[in-house]
Amino acid sequence: MKFDVSRQRIEAASAIVAGGVNSAFRSGIRPHPLVFAEADGAILTDVDGNRLVDYFLGMGPMLLGHRPAPVVDAVRAQLDRSILVAGQTDLEYAAARLLTELVPSAELVRFSVSGSEAVQAALRVARAATGRSTVLKFEGHYHGWFDNVMWSVSPTLEEAGPAEAPVPVASSLGQQPAVDLAVLPWNDADLVRQRLARGDVAAVIMEPVMFNNAGILPLPGYLEAVREACDASGTLLIFDEVITGFRIGPGGAQQEFGVTPDLTVLGKALANGFPVAAVVGKRSYMDLVADRVVHGGTYNTQSVAMAATLATLTEIASGRPYETIGPVGTALMEGLRKEFADAGVEVRIVGYPAVFQVRFGTVRPRDYREALQADRAAYVDFAADLLHHGVRVLPRGTWFVSTSHGDHVDATLSA
Ligand code: PLP
Repeated sequence: MKFDVSRQRIEAASAIVAGGVNSAFRSGIRPHPLVFAEADGAILTDVDGNRLVDYFLGMGPMLLGHRPAPVVDAVRAQLDRSILVAGQTDLEYAAARLLTELVPSAELVRFSVSGSEAVQAALRVARAATGRSTVLKFEGHYHGWFDNVMWSVSPTLEEAGPAEAPVPVASSLGQQPAVDLAVLPWNDADLVRQRLARGDVAAVIMEPVMFNNAGILPLPGYLEAVREACDASGTLLIFDEVITGFRIGPGGAQQEFGVTPDLTVLGKALANGFPVAAVVGKRSYMDLVADRVVHGGTYNTQSVAMAATLATLTEIASGRPYETIGPVGTALMEGLRKEFADAGVEVRIVGYPAVFQVRFGTVRPRDYREALQADRAAYVDFAADLLHHGVRVLPRGTWFVSTSHGDHVDATLSA
């Protein structure tokens, strides 16, 4: 496919939107800036008429595709009812009820605007419930942009290395004292047991499938072991299912693996492109949202977004999206496996989303940060190449290393 881009127009656009074009493409497609005009079904069209198949899913949320009829109809109808009322609506109750039917850990639901905020709400609840301040997370897992501000995760990892080290963070979490962060490598249950045995951790937060870096599944028994260690030490278990929720299946990773967390964070596919996220969980903990944890915002449960949420969840609950995604995904994977058989590219599926795993050689675990720099260019080229073939992917998970998965570094493109 020939890629036609009017550079002048794009340069003009980037001059007035801070970081606009550059930041959108810093993850790998910078030589091919795009300014989109339309999106429909699986197809994106840019201002110059180029058409791309969107495996990016708009950074994840567009599980039902772009502008799916049930969501568009619900939103249009809602515009004749209300836009924002600063109070609870019938839509909010209906959407929350559906969530409690779909997601095993959901007894009560609290909506917010972004996944990042919902993560913060979950941490506040955990800290209020336990009276402890330390949060344990895992190396390479992403929990929203607050990560960068509050947790200073990168410096933490550099200093701490693969072993856990609590790091006090200067920022405050609203009215609560600063959070102490502990970081452990993923998939090592013994380390979690040892750390939790000290009895000072409020919550363990994880992506139950490590999607933000290479789509790494939990080892068999790992989630169960973490659940047990949490129970034994009075620690809350939080699943961040912002990516895995609804994509791995209607009930998320917790349903797939049969391990129920105390709290779950949902976002992205929850409203198929509208800014809605949620923290859900056990009633006894969620009651703290009302009693002791301030968690609100001007646009929480905005009516139009809630109409989109209800329509999306209704579709998800019907099972229809999975009837389409399942066979198409399998056919796609088979085709890709055949195509890439000799190219050193491993193609695999985790739940419904496809993960294209690209292996760039064998590196000892200790060298992974250097390898990250070296390999970035290779996977960026791969993403750019796909773009020229009319396919937009999310170049994701620039690196991952785990002794549990062999001594190698993986760069991953996931779609
Ligand atoms: N948690 C996970 C696992 C995510 O992947 C993301 C975003 O990519 C977030 C939280 C943050 O969500 P948001 O971008 O809606 O703030």
